[in-house]
Amino acid sequence: MRRLRRVKIIATLGPASVDRAVVASLAAAGADLFRINMSHTDHASLANYVRMIREIEVELSRSIGVLVDLQGPKLRIGAFAEGSAHLRKGDALLFDLDPTPGDANRVCLPHPEIVAALNVGHTVLIDDGRVRLKVVEAMQDQVRAVVEVAGRISNRKGVSLPDTDIPITSMTSKDHADLVAALAEGADWIAISFVQRPEDVVEVKQIVQGRALVMAKIEKPQAIARLDEVIEVSDALMVARGDLGVEMPLERVPGLQKRINRAARRVGKPVVVATQMLESMILSPLPTRAEVSDVATAVYEGADAVMLSAESAAGQYPREAVATMSRIAEEVETDTVYRAIVNAQRAEPPNPTVADAIAAAARDVAQTIGVKAICAWTDSGATALRIARERPASPILALTPKRDTARRLALVWGVHALQTPDPSSVEDMVHRACSSAQSQGFGEEGDRVAIVAGMPFGSPGATNMIRIATVGE
Ligand code: PGA
Ligand code: MN
Repeated sequence: MRRLRRVKIIATLGPASVDRAVVASLAAAGADLFRINMSHTDHASLANYVRMIREIEVELSRSIGVLVDLQGPKLRIGAFAEGSAHLRKGDALLFDLDPTPGDANRVCLPHPEIVAALNVGHTVLIDDGRVRLKVVEAMQDQVRAVVEVAGRISNRKGVSLPDTDIPITSMTSKDHADLVAALAEGADWIAISFVQRPEDVVEVKQIVQGRALVMAKIEKPQAIARLDEVIEVSDALMVARGDLGVEMPLERVPGLQKRINRAARRVGKPVVVATQMLESMILSPLPTRAEVSDVATAVYEGADAVMLSAESAAGQYPREAVATMSRIAEEVETDTVYRAIVNAQRAEPPNPTVADAIAAAARDVAQTIGVKAICAWTDSGATALRIARERPASPILALTPKRDTARRLALVWGVHALQTPDPSSVEDMVHRACSSAQSQGFGEEGDRVAIVAGMPFGSPGATNMIRIATVGE
């Protein structure tokens, strides 16, 4: 059950994919991980999804990653007496803490810390930026703003504050409860929404205690401003283009996507490109040319994974969306220009280690003699990540004794992970790498593979050898 592409596909689960048969068909069509979005999922459904995924994993005998996405401090306005209000350009709207239903003159913004943090000149965006206001007066417990872009807003629409440093952590009490549930279900990855500072990631990591890996969603200008520090404390990043395109001018999103991809690649941390990738496939079995081009761009940029949101969670063609993404990726990756672009993006690691040197050597070997796979014995997955960082021309077969490592590696570019016990000797290491390459469909008798390992076996961080072997010898 090997994939014929290096980039990974994440499919978000939702009403369109509650059915076990649908989830199984998404995995068969190419989903390597499933995202469970806690903005729309209760704990019973979370447990149900994870159970289904684990069953499908056994059926397909292939590790599948579970990514649980915490909602984060999604701000919302209160309700209106008439369900909605029309705001006209130039009108003033008062945001206050009074839960009484509002009208076109005032509405509740039920977040005291936020009301206190808003200052004159700050922009207030409502409903994904459809309506825009500017704060003209900041008082005790209320804020007056003038409408700059008019429109109708209805009950509990989302609020984005691109200029305001939000003085709360990115974890709400709901996130905390969801995180505890996600860990209890054995999530492999936890995504944190609306990260502003490295401390937001550290706070989650302190609770997670290594039971899962942590992905920072980059969707706030504050996180962009401290990108390198956020990358440093995170295990992976998501270019969360939905909210990023609300909080920052839309035309800046493509450049930021490239910047985030490069910065994370340099240090060998996975990057996910997300949101609206095949948006029209929510309602149509065929994507637009622009969408095909968008998925292709992320693949050319060397992203580790591309993600489907509503396309697989709430659309009419979830399986077609996954299959389409997979086909686009396969085509791009066989383009000769792709190899040239990916090679050109390579950067030296910031503080190279012996393991980095071995990973670079594996890449050179793959390039020079065209091995069928780079087999990497890895405990934590770090060796596989280092090799993936090199974006070698051959696929990476990660051999790990840990089931969790195999599942986590589902996110990583070019890595096919297999759970198997640590080798007992050098002969065993070579022999089982070769037989695994064969059984997983990477090579046949007579084909060469490169094997990367550390001695003594089972001691993390000891990657220190590379060996070329021939399958079947
Ligand atoms: P969301 O995150 O789907 O949870 O909002 C992704 C994004 O903002 O792009
Ligand atoms: Mn978001």
